[in-house]
Amino acid sequence: MLRKNMEWIGDSLHIGGVSVNKLKEKYNTPLYIYDQKLFENTAEVFMDKFKSDKFETEIVYASKAFSNLYVLGLVRSLGLDLDVVSGGELFLALKAGINPQKIHFHGNNKLEEELIMAIENDIGLIIIDNMAEFHLLSGLLGKYKKKMRVLLRINPDIVTDTHKFIQTSNADSKFGLNIRDEKLTNYIKEIIADPYIELVGFHSHIGSQVTKGEFFVEESNILLDFTKKMSNDLGYEFTNINFGGGFGVSQKEKDPSLDLEEFLPEFIKHIEEKIGELDLPIKIVGIEPGRSLINQAGSTLYTVSSVKETLEGLPLVFVDGGMSDNIRPSLYGAKYDALIGNKKESSKKSYRVAGKLCESGDILIDEVELGNPEKDDLLLIPSTGAYTYVMQSHYNKMLSPAVVFVKDGKDYLAVRRESYEDLLINNLEYEERN
Ligand SMILES: *Cc1c(COP(=O)(O)O)cnc(C)c1O
Repeated sequence: MLRKNMEWIGDSLHIGGVSVNKLKEKYNTPLYIYDQKLFENTAEVFMDKFKSDKFETEIVYASKAFSNLYVLGLVRSLGLDLDVVSGGELFLALKAGINPQKIHFHGNNKLEEELIMAIENDIGLIIIDNMAEFHLLSGLLGKYKKKMRVLLRINPDIVTDTHKFIQTSNADSKFGLNIRDEKLTNYIKEIIADPYIELVGFHSHIGSQVTKGEFFVEESNILLDFTKKMSNDLGYEFTNINFGGGFGVSQKEKDPSLDLEEFLPEFIKHIEEKIGELDLPIKIVGIEPGRSLINQAGSTLYTVSSVKETLEGLPLVFVDGGMSDNIRPSLYGAKYDALIGNKKESSKKSYRVAGKLCESGDILIDEVELGNPEKDDLLLIPSTGAYTYVMQSHYNKMLSPAVVFVKDGKDYLAVRRESYEDLLINNLEYEERN
């Protein structure tokens, strides 16, 4: 349960050289804690291991996994590219000073005003999801007399073995154009003929939490074969390809995960060989890690309020957060483990960790072994860096927790904890009328 980036100093668990007791004192709980060095090292693994001397590679951080000005500032300084999927994410990226040319705009239903925002800010790449979107974009570009680079999202029709909500490439998926669609060649012909759109290649994304490398290899074969077929049929050179994200990482310590240092070089070698075999003029190959870049760096710290015995089942450890700061257990059945951070745990027993929100489903962990949790103990759930903070809700008017980065013994506040006053933002008072 203790992760490699954590250590005990005396009776206090430390992350990035900072004790959780100190973080509790300074920022209160629930608290999202991010190990900055682990994030930076993971980004470096992606940049160093997914590299080729045959083509350029792009590591595109999928900002939907976790975004705020601080982490986007890190992304900028590390030189990663950035995926956004909404006007809000695009706004934040621009505010964080990301070079617009490094921004890729995704989503199955980009709104007209979002496309206008992308055009006006000269962002680097739009990933077209469907033909209605193509027509909308082409019309807008015509008005602005601007040309834009696009990738077309292809659904390769692979079924991966993750949760149904996080599979994206089934035949009934809402994302992209299905590779088996007979109209596809004509669609691509139409896009190529458009004077305002430069179709540079294809994109696919097979799902999330995929821990078997073979699915990505299969995806790359399908998409590269498809690229070859289209360039033969249409006499056109495609220079870009992007295989999306979805690289699986563990949540519980013992979960399966892709070993990135091992997998990425194998994957790039396979792509090089396949491109060579097909003799394709590919210049840029991209991937879009979200979770695998940020998840392991993040943990959530809670304070235990009490332990409640129930008539049946495990004793409940009540903590001061819950599904408002991490919806994933109730939404996807996500499983985590936990440890107590303010005392060394001896003889452990099984407990269930429950949040404080008014839903029976507000259970953070169904079963976890803990050593005598008591009131005011600090409970840390590791590997919560992705899709938690960004999926928060204000249900029960819970206050949005602070986000703090830790590195080399220092802590850096990235997002302030909300106050009760903040709950009034955008609220208008009722006025008696007659
Ligand atoms: C969500 C998403 C990603 C990132 O997925 P992870 O599982 O977080 O790596 C990448 N590309 C696209 C198009 C996505 O929708």
